[in-house]
Amino acid sequence: MADGDGDAPASASRYAKTSTNYNDLPTYPERPSFKDFKNGLRPNSQVVVFDGSPGDPFKPSSMPIYQTSTFVQPSASEFGPYDYTRSGNPTRTALEKHVALLESAYASFAFGTGMSALMTVTRLVKPGEEVIIGEDIYGGMYRLLTNISRHQGIVLVAVDTTNLDLVEAAITPRTKLVHIETPSNPMMHVTDIRRLSAILQSKGVLLSVDATMMSPHLMKPISLGADICVQSATKFFGGHADTMGGFVSVGDANLANQIAFCQNAEGTALGPFDSWLFLRGIKTLAIRIDRAQATAQRIAELLGAHPQVTKVFYPGLKDHPGHELHFSQAKGAGCVLSFTTGNLRFSQRVVDALRLYKLTVSFGSVHSLCEMPCTMSHASVPDEERTLPSDLIRLSIGIEDADDLAEDLVHAFELAASDVPDIIKFKKAEQLLYDSQFQDMPVVPVAPSKL
Ligand code: PLP
Repeated sequence: MADGDGDAPASASRYAKTSTNYNDLPTYPERPSFKDFKNGLRPNSQVVVFDGSPGDPFKPSSMPIYQTSTFVQPSASEFGPYDYTRSGNPTRTALEKHVALLESAYASFAFGTGMSALMTVTRLVKPGEEVIIGEDIYGGMYRLLTNISRHQGIVLVAVDTTNLDLVEAAITPRTKLVHIETPSNPMMHVTDIRRLSAILQSKGVLLSVDATMMSPHLMKPISLGADICVQSATKFFGGHADTMGGFVSVGDANLANQIAFCQNAEGTALGPFDSWLFLRGIKTLAIRIDRAQATAQRIAELLGAHPQVTKVFYPGLKDHPGHELHFSQAKGAGCVLSFTTGNLRFSQRVVDALRLYKLTVSFGSVHSLCEMPCTMSHASVPDEERTLPSDLIRLSIGIEDADDLAEDLVHAFELAASDVPDIIKFKKAEQLLYDSQFQDMPVVPVAPSKL
């Protein structure tokens, strides 16, 4: 883990002097394995009760931010637990330990973004080896694999991973990794993690699950047999749409060493302040998700019964094809859902008319969000390869009052269905037919000069 003198090679005099082989040093600050650890507390307590700095003489109740790039070493021939923040930092270690605890992982590692976490997973694959991916994985991962990894000689095969026979048929002796999302984003396809991991283990292939849609509060892929679990922490871990980060959690020491080596060698680790923000976000992870998920279920049912909706994609609905499988591997259906209206222009009009749902890519915030995946979150997938319906709308449900969210949606449908022009004139205050102009919505008092 020591690397503070600027990418010193193994033969640098500093190491030669102490006869320490740099590459034999542990690649990350020492920590216990959380894989088989049985926490005595229930999940809603586990996110709150965690001592990130047990050795701190001042006993802070919140993990301090070690905003430093370097750490003074005990002597010329000894290493302290930390020497350089790219290699290790106590605030980041505290976060990585808490995430490992929640993921039931051997170890977890924190990165600057979800994409750098995913990029680090692709580093496990060498030129000539093959990666099998789910058909509707996150557009950014698709772009990384097709536009960067492919140029490095990595062979990519996309299959429908909900059909395990297809996955098995796609495996060759050169297959190194299968990377899936379940439920997938935004189509909510559900893949059986337990059965897939059993197939892959027998063939020596790694299984990586991007579980960003769930977070460990709802699903723990490593406990289900996955080797690797990736999270874009930007979503539910941060929870407030104000911080970027990503995690890679792994199931064994060998993978931990490889991921930690890349984290240090490529300089992709999360900084101390952002680590602290995620430590803070984790404390409300369970309560935020439970609240938003209850509203998501209600919104999904509302949409399911709406005459202008042609299909709702949400594993919480009993008629979702993956409903039972999903609940056999996850505790809840999550806070993200998508639906179609059968008409692109109508869907665009609905999205433009929503006001509480902010029109933005991403999900997992306390604010409700809406977007159209084809032109926004998944725009990096070329038209000819995209399997998403163009009229698809994705909603990420936040923690606002469920009645307000339901009303906003119903109003947007009314607006889209009516022939009213884009600029709406209010006749009476009670007739709240509004458009997505924030100032039209009566949430702030109007200044006297404007009356
Ligand atoms: N994985 C999924 C499922 C995502 O939706 C995203 C981003 O939207 C990422 C990974 C990438 O994360 P980040 O934006 O934090 O780099």
